[in-house]
Amino acid sequence: MDFKELGLDPQLIKAIEEMGYKEPTEIQKETIPLIKSGRDVFGQSCTGSGKTAAFGLPILEKISHQGKIQVLALVPTRELCEQVASEFIKFSKYKPVKVTTVYGGVAIGPQIRNLCDSDIVVGTPGRILDHLSRRTLDLRNVSFLVLDEADKMLEMGFIDDVEDILRHVPKQRQTLLFSATISSEIVHIAQKHMINPQKVETKIYFDKSKLKQIYYNVLGGDKFSLLVHLLKKENPKMAIIFCATRRRVDLVAGNLRKQGINVLPIHGGLTQARRTQIMESVKAHKVDGLVATDVAARGIDIKNVTHIFNYDLPKTSKEYLHRIGRTARADETGMAISLLSREDHENFRHVMMDRELEIEPNERPQFQKLQFEAIRTEQPRFGQRRFSSHGQNTEQRRGQRTRHWR
Ligand code: ADP
Ligand code: MG
Repeated sequence: MDFKELGLDPQLIKAIEEMGYKEPTEIQKETIPLIKSGRDVFGQSCTGSGKTAAFGLPILEKISHQGKIQVLALVPTRELCEQVASEFIKFSKYKPVKVTTVYGGVAIGPQIRNLCDSDIVVGTPGRILDHLSRRTLDLRNVSFLVLDEADKMLEMGFIDDVEDILRHVPKQRQTLLFSATISSEIVHIAQKHMINPQKVETKIYFDKSKLKQIYYNVLGGDKFSLLVHLLKKENPKMAIIFCATRRRVDLVAGNLRKQGINVLPIHGGLTQARRTQIMESVKAHKVDGLVATDVAARGIDIKNVTHIFNYDLPKTSKEYLHRIGRTARADETGMAISLLSREDHENFRHVMMDRELEIEPNERPQFQKLQFEAIRTEQPRFGQRRFSSHGQNTEQRRGQRTRHWR
């Protein structure tokens, strides 16, 4: 199936062809016709499966430049805001509409000026509420409301903000909710704010012949040394190293850099400016890897990931699939390497409950024992400017606790 068969505008097809899209992804095939037909849609598919176009293309099909806000897309973070807005701009190259981003941590004045003749607003909940309270954002003409990366939005504690915003949007609208994972809170939101939503769920496909999955048994104290050994041996073009907490992300990244390995940490405790810088380094191929928490990595578009390292095992097979789904894309091959020490065995058992997973044990190689230091890490940022006091992000709460421990 190609995009023409989905009945999209020739202007949109021309734009996406220029972007290199040849055929629609699974989620796009299913949601584009539904959204075009006017349905509310609840879509789930993994990071990197093309959810932005899955809602962006049919929306653009149905709106035109009017200088009134017809689309409000809520996203959890500034970088996702930029990512989604830039996709909207690329899709609409031959069917121009005005897209404005609205997020915190930057001057509000230019946003206010841009909002007056916008068609599409992509924003984070806090700053959207800020504009609503200043009466600088008119949502009365919204006919499409998108909740993108809904799981991450809820994990970051934005539920009350989202509910507050929904009160300002007309009831007569199409609501589209997209997420990589589904929790009971997401189902609750869907039931409360969507009208007879059609649920579309796509499986995480990966080609076993292109993605090699292995694990090593290793003592907890040797994990870092083994990781360094493997990174030097494999010399990945781009690796993502997953850790359980942001403190561990900082420690592992700091120690890897001391070993001359060019990685950067990414987690929810970093300032927006720092996160943007990091993502720019990734785009410019200035780093060989990211050390990340699951939440931080959600939704972020990182191309050509060749290696996934589970420095800490994820808690469920689903989370494991989400991690490994980020490599071996298109015609590339990839490798997923799990480092198992005693603390990981229970999680590993949970992961292996998915009988279809084939993760092979590997003989532990000889490796040099290295020092792992408790380096001082980048301070998390507290008191992020927010409109409402509820919904403090869980990573922030965790961060406060670790502060006491230090
Ligand atoms: P998700 O939101 O599911 O994580 P994105 O919408 O960010 O995924 O898309 C991931 C990447 O794949 C983006 O760079 C996007 O431009 C690209 N992409 C999306 N759909 C297609 C397609 N049909 N063909 C080729 N590339 C695509
Ligand atoms: Mg996305």
